[in-house]
Amino acid sequence: MYYNENTIIYLNGAFVKATESNPDMYSQTLHYGYGVFEGIRAYNTEKGTKIFKEKEHYVRLKRSCELINIPFEFDIDELIKQSYEVLKKNNLKDAYIRPLVYCNPNMTLVKPNNVSDVNIMICAWEWGAYLGDKMLNLMISSFCRPHPRSVKVEAKACGHYVNSILATNEAKAAGYDEALLLDYNGFLAEGPGANLFFQKDGQLFTPQLGSILAGITRATVIEIAAELGIKVNEGLYKQEDLLAADSAFYCGTAAEVAPIASVNKNVFKTAWKDSLGKQIQDAYQCRVLEKKYELAK
Ligand code: PMP
Repeated sequence: MYYNENTIIYLNGAFVKATESNPDMYSQTLHYGYGVFEGIRAYNTEKGTKIFKEKEHYVRLKRSCELINIPFEFDIDELIKQSYEVLKKNNLKDAYIRPLVYCNPNMTLVKPNNVSDVNIMICAWEWGAYLGDKMLNLMISSFCRPHPRSVKVEAKACGHYVNSILATNEAKAAGYDEALLLDYNGFLAEGPGANLFFQKDGQLFTPQLGSILAGITRATVIEIAAELGIKVNEGLYKQEDLLAADSAFYCGTAAEVAPIASVNKNVFKTAWKDSLGKQIQDAYQCRVLEKKYELAK
């Protein structure tokens, strides 16, 4: 699904076959989850393939490394250029791009001292909407997001995703589509791979930064809402606030804008087609495809 014998990836300055580039079995990243990654999308626009918010994603990749002390000396403009090359070499127009920064063999818990112990890989594949296109039934997870004094929450670090996988597995095993995680204090946080917004009385609400990943789609939703004259509130919200909401959605690069039908079997009362989320979803599609958005009458 992700690659075949013809797939080309970018690895430390060169293009190589995916099938001929296995990670080192002694990599510090493989053993301890000590690496960082990004999830980026490219869209087939009328003006050709465009990577959406490419700079923001690579800046976050760099910042994630800095936050967890992985030396990062890659040039962001070069990485952007090589991301387009990966798309070209694999004939991809609409694609998901996955840069991964990983470390050389090291069985200690000490950060790499040299940049030469840090690698970068960029691969890409075709990926439809991550959460599908049906309305999601969420389960409030028994797992909370990592405590901000346990990890650097704002780093998109590999190891953090064990928490996401646990929450997703739990929700799916219980018959739900997706999990919703609270923070260590019981406030609403985010999904395993997406940020949360909900609508109440004509305004949008989203958990504040602190226990969540600062999503690039979240920032785009806030920008779009401002353009559409929709007020967005960022704060600490409780489960009850969400359960009393009119409508809700997840957003993320892979998920885009994904409508939520219910939380713990409580169904939102506003139909998705009549929600602010639907306006944001349509405007987001226009934004990534570089089209003009006009509110449906
Ligand atoms: N939260 C988590 C935990 C994520 O993994 C993601 C996906 N990167 C998001 C939120 C959404 O972030 P973005 O919009 O930057 O993709």
